[in-house]
Amino acid sequence: MNKALRRPVIAGNWKMNQTPAEAKALIEQMKPLVADADCDVVLCVPYVDLQAAMEAAEGSNIRIGAENCHWAQKGAFTGEVSAEMLKAMGVPYVIIGHSERRQYFGETDETVQKRVRAALDAGLTVILCVGEYLQQREQGITEEVVRLQTKIALGGVSAEELKRIIIAYEPVWAIGTGKTATAEQANEVNHAIRVCVGELYGKEAADALVVQYGGSMNAGNAKELLAQPDVDGGLIGGASLKAADFSVIVGAAS
Ligand code: PEP
Repeated sequence: MNKALRRPVIAGNWKMNQTPAEAKALIEQMKPLVADADCDVVLCVPYVDLQAAMEAAEGSNIRIGAENCHWAQKGAFTGEVSAEMLKAMGVPYVIIGHSERRQYFGETDETVQKRVRAALDAGLTVILCVGEYLQQREQGITEEVVRLQTKIALGGVSAEELKRIIIAYEPVWAIGTGKTATAEQANEVNHAIRVCVGELYGKEAADALVVQYGGSMNAGNAKELLAQPDVDGGLIGGASLKAADFSVIVGAAS
């Protein structure tokens, strides 16, 4: 499975951080630092920051994404934002199934599947998050968990649509905790995801699939993680709020 077939994607996930003015300032800081990146650079930001972020990133190599979207096109869903609305704004990326959505907001594999469907229908590129809890890792069922999450999320996704899916393997125990999976652990699960996708869509599709690692990736550990044969980039939380750290990670992927 040839890593050279895939262009790495480094995506920031700002979570519930940054006002629109702060978003603009941070992107202005980042732009010159990542201008020479030989990878795709994406920043996923809170809905209220999208407009400011898109304006700040215009003309640069930074692409903007949202952190979630609803599955309905519109309707009585107070507080939600649809994929169609993101499309109308010109937002190209969206994170779906982040473990914080699964943990705190009742996200299930079934709702992840519905959101993926809506995002693809709207023409967006999806960063689909999967990952196990610590207890599941200790039980030795990591691969089963991640394979099931992947299969359900991809239910109904065509081979053509798969080209607009990036999968982020994010062990829940490593997110925001400072605990990183070892490079070997990350590669092992990323590889299992690629094998799973290969079973569903064939080798060519699996070879082309970008599988990121996420979970306390930072300026110090990015190089080793990104050097793994099945790690094609990263989904970065905390370190994406610091321009210097984020640019080191982008540099490590380039
Ligand atoms: C994330 O939010 O997807 C993430 C990986 O966070 P952190 O890098 O802070 O662990």
